[in-house]
Amino acid sequence: MDVLLDILEPGQSVLPHQVSPALRKRVVGIDLGTTFSLVAAIGVEGKPLCIPDEAGNVSLPSVVHYGQNGSPLVGQAARAKLLSDPETTISSVKRYMGRGLEDIYKKSPNTPHGLEAGEGGMVRIVMGDKRVSPVEVSAEILKALKQRAEDALGGTLHGVVITVPAYFDDAQRQATKDAARIAGLEVMRLLNEPTSAALAYGLDKGREGLYAIYDLGGGTFDISLLKLEKGVFQVMATGGDSALGGDDLDQWLVNRLILELGVEKPDSGLIQACRKVAREVKERLSNEETVEFSMPLSLAMGRITRDEFEGGIRELVWATIPLCRRVLKDAGIEKDALQGVVLVGGSTRVPLVRRMVAEFFCMEPLIDLDPDQVVALGAAHQAEALAGNERAEMLLLDVTPLSLGVETMGDLVEKIVPRNSPIPTARGQEFTTFKDGQTAMAIHVVQGERELASQCRSLARFELRGIPAMTAGAARILVTYQVDADGLLTVSAREETTGIEQSIAIKPSYGLSDDEIADMLQDAMRHGTTDMLARLLNEAKVDAERVLAAAGAALKEDGDLLSDGELKQVKAVMVALWDSMQGDSAEKINEAVVQMDNKTRFFAQRRMDRSLQMAMTGRKVDDFA
Ligand code: ADP
Ligand code: MG
Repeated sequence: MDVLLDILEPGQSVLPHQVSPALRKRVVGIDLGTTFSLVAAIGVEGKPLCIPDEAGNVSLPSVVHYGQNGSPLVGQAARAKLLSDPETTISSVKRYMGRGLEDIYKKSPNTPHGLEAGEGGMVRIVMGDKRVSPVEVSAEILKALKQRAEDALGGTLHGVVITVPAYFDDAQRQATKDAARIAGLEVMRLLNEPTSAALAYGLDKGREGLYAIYDLGGGTFDISLLKLEKGVFQVMATGGDSALGGDDLDQWLVNRLILELGVEKPDSGLIQACRKVAREVKERLSNEETVEFSMPLSLAMGRITRDEFEGGIRELVWATIPLCRRVLKDAGIEKDALQGVVLVGGSTRVPLVRRMVAEFFCMEPLIDLDPDQVVALGAAHQAEALAGNERAEMLLLDVTPLSLGVETMGDLVEKIVPRNSPIPTARGQEFTTFKDGQTAMAIHVVQGERELASQCRSLARFELRGIPAMTAGAARILVTYQVDADGLLTVSAREETTGIEQSIAIKPSYGLSDDEIADMLQDAMRHGTTDMLARLLNEAKVDAERVLAAAGAALKEDGDLLSDGELKQVKAVMVALWDSMQGDSAEKINEAVVQMDNKTRFFAQRRMDRSLQMAMTGRKVDDFA
C-alpha cells in the first residue's frame, strides 16, 4: 500500500513558476451547457478566447442526432433534426446526467424520449431498439468540442477543465467525468460554473468579498453566492429553478404567434417552426426596439415591439427575484454586503432581465464579458493555471471525494472529514487510551466509506509516543485532519497534557483514479447494511473487552472483598460475557454486558467504600505529618 503514498514536504510547490512557450501544455476550458456548449483557450495575448467553428460560431448547440448509420450528428446539424426526427434527436441531455429514472420523472414527467432504468438505476434514453446513456450523449458533444479545439490549437489536448453547476452532486459530477473519459479527454478538474464566471472577471485578483452570480440560460436559472477570501472561492449558497430560462421566454412568443396565425390545434411541426422564429425574434429584441419578421410557415409579416415583449415576459423574469432573495437569506447575507453581481447565460442579454437584476441588487451588474461565454472563459483560465502554464494565483474550493477517517479499536473507522466536505478544511476529534499505562497510540489514517478499517483504503500509519502513563481513558489525544486547498492532508495527533505531537502529510487522491473512487463509493453503498451490522458487532466486542479488562483488574486489586461464593458468581458472569463474544450477535453481547453490570454491582459498591475509606485514612496520615 505504501507505494500509493505521496508525501510532500510542507510548503513544497507543485507548480513550476515559469514555463517556456515550448513547454506550454495544450489545455482548454469547456462549458458543457444544457442548451449550448463552448470551448475556450488562452490566446496569444494571454487572454482567454472562445474557439469558433468553421462558420464562426462559438456556441455549439448541445444537441445530438442519431442517424441510421455513421457517427451521430452534433450541434447545429443535429438541432436542425429536432423538427424532422424528434425521436432520434436528443437535446438538454445535461438534465439526465447522473440521474435515476425516478429523479427525472419527479422533476419533469413529460420527457420527449422514452426513458428506462439502466445499470445502477441510472437513466437510459430509448430510441427504437437503440439505447444510449446520457453519458454517451454528452461524450459526443465533448468529442465535437475536442476536435474543434485540436484543429485550432494544432495538436492533441493535454487536459481540460469542465464546468458543472454548483449544485451538481457526486453522481452528476462523476457522470460528467465519465463522458470526458469516453471522449478521450483528461479532466484536470471540474469547476463550478459560478466560480468559473468569477474567475473570468478576475475577481480572484485582489478583490475579496461576496459576489452574486445570476445565471439565466436556455432552460435553467441558477443563482449562487460566492465568497472570496484569502485566495479561496467558496460557494456559500445556491438556488434557482431548473425549469426556468430562455425557452420560457420563447414560449410566450410561440403562444402569441399561434394566436396570430389563428390556428386552433397546431401540430408539432408548426410549433417547432414557431419556436425557431420566436427565438430569433427574442434575440433581436435585445438590441432592437421593434422587430419585423416573417410569420412561421406563411408569407405574412409580423411585428412586435420590445415593450410588448417585456409586458409578456415580465412575470417570468420576476420569478427569479424571490429565488435571489432566498439564497441571500440562506447564506445570512444582506444585499448591501455584496461587492458585485455577475451576469451569466444568454438570457441575461434581455434588457428587462438586466434592469430587474440591477433594481433588486441595487447595483449595476458586471456585463463587460459576453454572458454566453463567461463560464468557458473562466474555465480556460483555470485550465491554464492547473497545467502550470501560468502561475496559479488562487486556490479553488473543492470537496473531498471520499471520507477520511482514523481506525479505532475493533477495526472500526471514525470518520473525521466526511465525504463531500468543502476544502480547505480542518477537523479534530479527541481520543483516549484504551489500556492502563498506555504510552503510545497508533494512528492509522484511512479513506473510504466502509465501516470497517480493513475495508477502507489505508493511507498512512504513525505512532504517537511518550504519552504519560495514566489509567485507561484519562489521556486526551486530539487528532486533527487538515486538508488544504490542493487536497493535501495533514494528520496530527497531540497529547493535550504534555503537548507532545506527531504529524504526517499525505496526498489522499494520489494513485487513485476516478474509476477507483467511483468503485469505492459503489462498494460502500452495496455493503451499507452489512457494514452497519459489522460495525455494531465490533463496537459491542470492544465494549465487552473493556468491561472484562476492568473486571479482571478489579479482581486482582480487591478480590479479597469477595467470599468464595461471590467470587464464583462474578467469574461465572465474566465467562458468560466471554462466551457471548465468541458469537456474532451484537445484541447477545450487549445483553451479557448488562447482566454482568447487574450481577457485579455489589462488588463495585464495596470497592468504592474501600477506596473512600483509604482516602480518609490517607488524609488522617497527612494531618499527623
Ligand atoms: P445554457 O447555459 O442553458 O446552455 P446559455 O447560457 O447559452 O444556455 O443561454 C441560452 C439561452 O440564451 C437561449 O434561450 C437563447 O435564446 C438565449 N439568448 C442568446 N442570445 C440572446 C439574446 N441576444 N437575447 C436574448 N436571449 C438570448
Ligand atoms: Mg450555462
